[in-house]
Amino acid sequence: MTAETVEIALDGEITAFRRIPFETANPDLFVCADCEAEDGELHQPGCDCEVCPCCKAQLLTSPCFAAPGHKLGDTEMEAA
Ligand SMILES: [Zn+2]
Ligand SMILES: [Zn+2]
Repeated sequence: MTAETVEIALDGEITAFRRIPFETANPDLFVCADCEAEDGELHQPGCDCEVCPCCKAQLLTSPCFAAPGHKLGDTEMEAA
């Protein structure tokens, strides 16, 4: 199971945002191209296609995800 929230540090406060599930807009694409989440399911942690609920950019490259405190609720992503 994956956490349903992502924690983002805003003005020094950690805020939990609801993660944005995969939604297919393409009838030829039934699952997420990266993590294979199905329509309406949450992406796997670290998926390239997940959108940041805070800034709506790609989660992995969003500036707030790079900020301290911005992390998936219970992610087990390896420490770099
Ligand atoms: Zn995905
Ligand atoms: Zn963001």
